[in-house]
Amino acid sequence: MKNILVKGTIEGVRIYALCTTELVQELNLIHGCSHLAIAALGRAASGALLMAATMKDDARITLRFSGDGPLGEVVADAKGNCVRGYVDHPQVCLPIKNGKLDVGGGVGQGNIIVTRYLHNAEPFNGYCELVNGEIATDLTNYLYTSEQIPTSVALGVLVNPEGTVIAAGGYFLQAMPDADDEVLKQLENNIVTLPYVTELLNAGNTPEEIIKKIGKGFKVNINESLPVKLQCNCTREKVAGMLAALSDNDLEEMKHDEVTEVHCHFCNKSYKFTKTELNALKK
Ligand SMILES: [Zn+2]
Repeated sequence: MKNILVKGTIEGVRIYALCTTELVQELNLIHGCSHLAIAALGRAASGALLMAATMKDDARITLRFSGDGPLGEVVADAKGNCVRGYVDHPQVCLPIKNGKLDVGGGVGQGNIIVTRYLHNAEPFNGYCELVNGEIATDLTNYLYTSEQIPTSVALGVLVNPEGTVIAAGGYFLQAMPDADDEVLKQLENNIVTLPYVTELLNAGNTPEEIIKKIGKGFKVNINESLPVKLQCNCTREKVAGMLAALSDNDLEEMKHDEVTEVHCHFCNKSYKFTKTELNALKK
């Protein structure tokens, strides 16, 4: 199934769903993730895409799940329909807990930090404590406590024994100010009876079909469907610009090495600069 995000509405409630199976498998390969790490990173990346879909196209959002668990920080960054992400320690494994990957144990206790970069404005930071490190619950709680947006988020990544992602994606329901309490209650009931989102995707349900299942009993409006993809925005020019902005002292320090290597955490690419190239930067 293609990487796709579908936007729907039902009587004052936004329902967005997405399939990110191929994109999360790409992330898996780029970062050489364990089963546990890609479960955490894939959920975060899917969550970031859902959040970005509620913002304008030129706005960017970064989610940082910063806990004390062995995975370290899990970071996902989305703008429009593009996402990128990384996890500090992608090779960490933990024993299976209750038949599932122990994402909560991998992330640990700490904070979720959300940064929104809006056009022509200072970045806006919000944060709150992680509930359980399972990503979706943390995002639901963050949106409710920090941004006062009642939202219900479901995210999932299914990995086969060989470590390949076979289903990934998620959905959310977000009550707009005019949403009716009875409608919300009925939708919540619908969700409770639904299988996990990865089971739905793995059984071949498209995001549109998932939205219709969530909205069972209501008239569902499907408003938009857009392809989503993995993309890093780093370039050699941007890295050079960053180096040029460093203080003279820092730059001199770097010139002790024959070659300076700058690594992009998001896409695992390395950019190399020779002494001569560093000297040319300040000119
Ligand atoms: Zn990059």
